[in-house]
Amino acid sequence: MKIKKIESFVLNDKLSKSFYFSQWEYKERVCCLVKITTDNGEYGWGEGYGPANIIKAGIDFLKPILIGMNIIDNEVIWSKMYARTLDYARKGVLMASVSAIDVAIWDLKGKLLNLPVSRLLGGRHREKIKPYATGLYFSSLENPSKNYENELNQYLKKGFKAIKMKIGLGIETDLKNIHYVRKVIGNDIKLMVDANHAYSFLESIELSKKMEKYDIYWFEEPLSPEFYKQYRELKEKTTIPISSGECEYLRFGFHQLLENQSVDIIQPDICSCGGITEAKRISNLASTYGIDLIPHTWGSGLGIYVALNFMSNLEPNPTRLIDKDLYVEYDQTENKIREELILPKLKIKDGYIEVPSKPGLGIDINEEKMDSFKI
Ligand SMILES: [Mg+2]
Repeated sequence: MKIKKIESFVLNDKLSKSFYFSQWEYKERVCCLVKITTDNGEYGWGEGYGPANIIKAGIDFLKPILIGMNIIDNEVIWSKMYARTLDYARKGVLMASVSAIDVAIWDLKGKLLNLPVSRLLGGRHREKIKPYATGLYFSSLENPSKNYENELNQYLKKGFKAIKMKIGLGIETDLKNIHYVRKVIGNDIKLMVDANHAYSFLESIELSKKMEKYDIYWFEEPLSPEFYKQYRELKEKTTIPISSGECEYLRFGFHQLLENQSVDIIQPDICSCGGITEAKRISNLASTYGIDLIPHTWGSGLGIYVALNFMSNLEPNPTRLIDKDLYVEYDQTENKIREELILPKLKIKDGYIEVPSKPGLGIDINEEKMDSFKI
């Protein structure tokens, strides 16, 4: 059960049509996967969220200190990686390299012990989780909502009960788009909005006030992630729940969000916040503050399997006879890597996705397909 080999892969797929969000244009999908093999031939997969080439360089940097370590000791391995990167990477992309390796180790550990990661974490509080569709990016800057109706109808047909749309093009444009989306989906579908920190404090207050009538389930990343206190002040000024955390790292970063009472929901990306080992600590912190945790997911699609396993184990907040639904992020934008690489395919049934029950993350990677995405 000792680590024998660590391989990292950068995968790329050109989009048939680029799309925008509030910060930049996506022309391609790029991600970094890691495969760790032990001396008995078993292997596990992980992924880092962020710039893929830099994550790959980080994995290569960490490799020498990990070879020969026993994968059962995931916390010891985590500490070794943390100690080696602490001086330059308490926040940022090198932590995504640590996360990718940590995720692969949990996958391996589950396979070797013949248990799904959800049970390795301490057990399954829930067997199924409601997915929400992440989409409604801007197809062009001239007419950002051009394809919305088509896209929304596809999500409804697939059985989604919640949809998250991108905002951040300016208050008037955003309000027009939100009004349109709410009209198409009606009042029974949950609607979240994500600004990707495109707004100033005053703009966020104005927009949240004007959005309240649209029954917004949460307002994601209104402000830049540095402004912990502005988040808190905004939260006090609106009835819409405020969420953030996909740009935050480690339990120390999330402690800042929680201690400053900045948000109603924290959203760590398990593939960058420090992996499953650290996400478990972050969830313990969140439960200390009585705050919900809903992971951010993006990338090859592996992240959603990580999130499903992790969320199955999340302690109910609060405890009660009939648990409330948790929502897992399911990216629906164009991504051939996500569609073709990972088996088994996720299915939405009656608005829910079942938590994987096979050992490890419950997935396998089609390595033949993967070759066609390698750079
Ligand atoms: Mg987001």
